[in-house]
Amino acid sequence: MKQSGKCPKCGSTRLIERAHVLDYTLSGRQNLKVAVEKNPESWNPEVLTGELAAWICVQCGFTEMYCVDLLDEAASDAPSP
Ligand SMILES: [Zn+2]
Repeated sequence: MKQSGKCPKCGSTRLIERAHVLDYTLSGRQNLKVAVEKNPESWNPEVLTGELAAWICVQCGFTEMYCVDLLDEAASDAPSP
């Protein structure tokens, strides 16, 4: 949906791009993030985080989330699926 500009469920091109995905904690509101351990075998692994953003179809409500700022550095050391 992000790349095609089109909803894969209903075909609409009316999309909301880069909507914030919020998390509420005791300290307030923040953007939801994913976390990846760069070197998980280490006794003190470095944790890299990436913020999530949502693409939403206005027609049917289908929503996809993308990590928009995780470093390429995180992917190079992450285990393959
Ligand atoms: Zn749709």
